[in-house]
Amino acid sequence: MQLGSLPKPSWLAEPEKLWAPWQLEGDDLARGKADAALIWIKQQEDAGIDIIGEGEQFRDHFVHGFLHHVEGFDWDLKTPMGIRDNRYVVDVPTVTGPVQRKNSVHGTDVRFARPDTTRKLKFTLPGPMTICDNVANGHYDNRPDVAMAFADLLNQKAKELEALDADIIQFDEPAFNVFMDDVKEWGIIALERAAAGLTCKTAVHICYGYGIEANNQWKETLGREWRQYEETFPAMNESTIDMVSLECANSHVPLSLMKLLGDRDVLVGVIDVASMDVETPEQVAATIRSAMEYVGPERIYLCTNCGLAPLPRDVAVGKLRALGAGAALVRTELRG
Ligand code: ZN
Repeated sequence: MQLGSLPKPSWLAEPEKLWAPWQLEGDDLARGKADAALIWIKQQEDAGIDIIGEGEQFRDHFVHGFLHHVEGFDWDLKTPMGIRDNRYVVDVPTVTGPVQRKNSVHGTDVRFARPDTTRKLKFTLPGPMTICDNVANGHYDNRPDVAMAFADLLNQKAKELEALDADIIQFDEPAFNVFMDDVKEWGIIALERAAAGLTCKTAVHICYGYGIEANNQWKETLGREWRQYEETFPAMNESTIDMVSLECANSHVPLSLMKLLGDRDVLVGVIDVASMDVETPEQVAATIRSAMEYVGPERIYLCTNCGLAPLPRDVAVGKLRALGAGAALVRTELRG
């Protein structure tokens, strides 16, 4: 079981908001991020989550939090961009020169979390194609070139995190459910380049986005069955990436599409991030059982459909407990 982003406490950042401004500054901010991560590590351990993370408490956003550590940007040159194929407009920073490392990206996050838990540690990074979709390009010839430049940078960072004992490095690629042709032409190539040479487990998270209004409206347009994974899973199954994460809870994704991932470990999303209702352990167990019709339990890892960051903190705590309790129910059945 594992999670991605989790809500920031209200004393650290404005709650229930993406790109929420920090409420602290300087040393207080650094200490506050670490304290928040410690709270979430404890909450995950108490809920029985066996692969834990720092809940992305050290970054303001899953993409831009990474970019703050990269040179080659003009943060003042904000360009309005319709991201995820014009689903919502965000003022994004602009690439104005070759992107390169400025300092250790997220190294402090792992250095902090590693000694605080004996459990396995997963660390998330934005995928190269999704980064492309969150920046304006004023330097490279085209989007694939931007993606490859970031892939090389991500690869350096991923190796640094691996050296700090991260057990799983996950690349988040929500853009893989949007730009279907680009994924096949250069998205997966860029992703493999980001993960090249890693010996820890590698994962890709392909979701239908955070439970925010713009995403919920987009989902309304996707029809009765969501079959985007059908286009990408065969290629993912051939790729060098070990694990593929998909959303299954309350989803319109036909779960039979998981059969296309016959050689991979599968991260099955069993918690709905678009609903404030906290799942019961029985509901979580039912989703796990449905997934087991297509994937053997030895290849299943459990997770949430997407990050819980924009949810109220109490709802997120309830959902992570439901994840732990639902998994425990199925484990008991399997031991039978
Ligand atoms: Zn996601």
